[in-house]
Amino acid sequence: MSHIITVENVSKRFGQVAAVDDVSLAIEEGEFFALLGPSGCGKTTLLRMLAGFETPTEGRITLDGKDMAGVPPNRRPVNMVFQSYAVFPHMTVADNIGYGLKVDGLGRAERDARISEALDLVRLTGLGERKPDQLSGGQRQRVALARALAKRPRVLLLDEPLSALDAKLREQMRFELASLQHQVGITFVMVTHDQDEALAMATRCAVMERGRLVQLATPSDLYEFPNSRFVADFIGSVNMIEGRLTTDKPDEAIITTSELGDVFIDHAVLGHTGGTLWLALRPEKIELRVRDAGSPAPKMEDSPQGYNSIAGTIDHIAYLGSESVFEIVLEHLPDKKLRVIRPNLTRWDQEDFAEGQPVWMSWHACAPAVLAG
Ligand code: ATP
Repeated sequence: MSHIITVENVSKRFGQVAAVDDVSLAIEEGEFFALLGPSGCGKTTLLRMLAGFETPTEGRITLDGKDMAGVPPNRRPVNMVFQSYAVFPHMTVADNIGYGLKVDGLGRAERDARISEALDLVRLTGLGERKPDQLSGGQRQRVALARALAKRPRVLLLDEPLSALDAKLREQMRFELASLQHQVGITFVMVTHDQDEALAMATRCAVMERGRLVQLATPSDLYEFPNSRFVADFIGSVNMIEGRLTTDKPDEAIITTSELGDVFIDHAVLGHTGGTLWLALRPEKIELRVRDAGSPAPKMEDSPQGYNSIAGTIDHIAYLGSESVFEIVLEHLPDKKLRVIRPNLTRWDQEDFAEGQPVWMSWHACAPAVLAG
């Protein structure tokens, strides 16, 4: 795989603010790459440096093997789709798509061929003569995409491309955008603060925090193997429990916590061992069972150290249709709660789990990520 973009020790300072702080990364040709992080983390500034709208204070950016220092935006092999998907309201869809091609000096026949190809790509075939106000929000967004794709850039930069759309359309467009990228094979670099969006579409995500790159991984690795409390907390929902490693034998490792008592941990997930540790336990990795008076804690007969169970009582349920989210108060520590997510696999699934129901919460010893303090 060849690298179409490299970012080498790039920093960008605005006065005292280090918007981007010593970031290095490489993007492979044909990737759908996401820059992800909370507001103000520097992701837009990094994207704007790739586009050429900002100049790095330090470091080097290469596109397609060439150093971009001093190369203006219109001479770079990139095109940008903006958040507001600004299309010209007085021009037809076809003229909007063809505008940039005309500016570049392409002849009529070539322009028409590229306009028609771009319309087909974004599934707006036959709508070229419409004006933007005769289109839905999702269709207008596709015009902006078609306009950028018609120029056949090597890299398409997308700044929060779906943020102006309503929730249902956003979800639909995620699939469309991902399959469009697959079809055209152009490298996409997208900025988003929406972790669901990044996980759903990107082949790899770079998570940024206060200007720095904190983790670069595939969506599933980010979620299942976060490298810090920040990433575990930013990507999805998580129960974060503080503790210390108190038993460290090959067949038995225990992290002692004040909230959950002694927790069995699989040696394979024990990356860090010293000092304060954090267990990052995802809500869907906790199993729920009804707890009757006197019923023993569930355990695995063949491997008691492979499984944990703790008693609690359901305090609150958010029923979300496909799944339910439970807040469960710990039996021995009534001011502490764990969050549990359970899919509603049958239409009667919720019946056993009402508010006030005593339950057992159980999880495998390999379920939590163990993170350094
Ligand atoms: P958002 O999701 O809110 O757009 P972001 O992660 O994209 O945030 P940036 O827009 O890259 O963040 O901004 C990073 C930091 O740099 C912020 O503290 C911001 O205030 C600052 N910043 C960005 N552009 C400028 C500028 N032109 N002048 C001064 N400070 C700036």
